[in-house]
Amino acid sequence: MIVQNLKIPADQSAWWFVFSGNQLLQVESTPGVIQACRQELDFIHPYIADAVQVGHYQDSPCYLIDFNAEEPQYPSAELAGLRDLLIKVDIELFHIAARAWQVALFQRTHRFCGQCGSATNKVDWELAVQCHVCQHRCYPRISPCIIVAIRNGKQILLAQGKHHKNDMYSTLAGFVESGESLEQAVHREVMEEVGVKIKNLRYFSSQPWPFPHSLMMGYIADYDSGDITPDGHEIIKADWFDFDNLPHIPSPYSIAGQLIAAAKEQSDR
Ligand SMILES: [Zn+2]
Repeated sequence: MIVQNLKIPADQSAWWFVFSGNQLLQVESTPGVIQACRQELDFIHPYIADAVQVGHYQDSPCYLIDFNAEEPQYPSAELAGLRDLLIKVDIELFHIAARAWQVALFQRTHRFCGQCGSATNKVDWELAVQCHVCQHRCYPRISPCIIVAIRNGKQILLAQGKHHKNDMYSTLAGFVESGESLEQAVHREVMEEVGVKIKNLRYFSSQPWPFPHSLMMGYIADYDSGDITPDGHEIIKADWFDFDNLPHIPSPYSIAGQLIAAAKEQSDR
């Protein structure tokens, strides 16, 4: 549960997710995030009134402190991107950091009402802001995104997007459009990006992905028909790869990596 407008005890041990720009203050020691009592952290005091509780980790509360554009000064800690944390920490802690980042982004981008332009106020009992002039209420933005592993016997269709680095190939993914079901989005994205028809779509699992506020919903599908034709905009290259001879693929921390592993396991049966 996410709680704002808090009173934080001075001597209670807690985890602190301190953001500045789009970076998180990280420490060298495991698990990478600052653990301390409020009274030990003088540098956060000007920001403490806006702290938000974003979860619990190992029986201690987790708090978001947002420095916005200011730079925090804390010994033996440095600012780094969230992706850096992904490879350092327990996935549970990463998910809390991801939530903290999305809450920070929500607060930064909803200070004024999108309908009448008046200043908004935080709601006490849920994560929302309210305009008291026109009564418009806003919640954090979550962008649903589908991601799909396409199997064809002992092979999988993987593609290289224009943003992929290090010659990495991954599963296809795309945003769900307004008025579309998840299944319609999967069929449409696959047809648009590589010109292939798929069948036997089955749900796999989901993963919040804080870059910046996606919710990835994973599917596995079987190839039906059509020749691979990359769209040339989102997708630069795409091909069938043997499960025994895969290119550079995403890590198992990401749902893309998990989908590829699950599709391989299904092909072994
Ligand atoms: Zn308003």
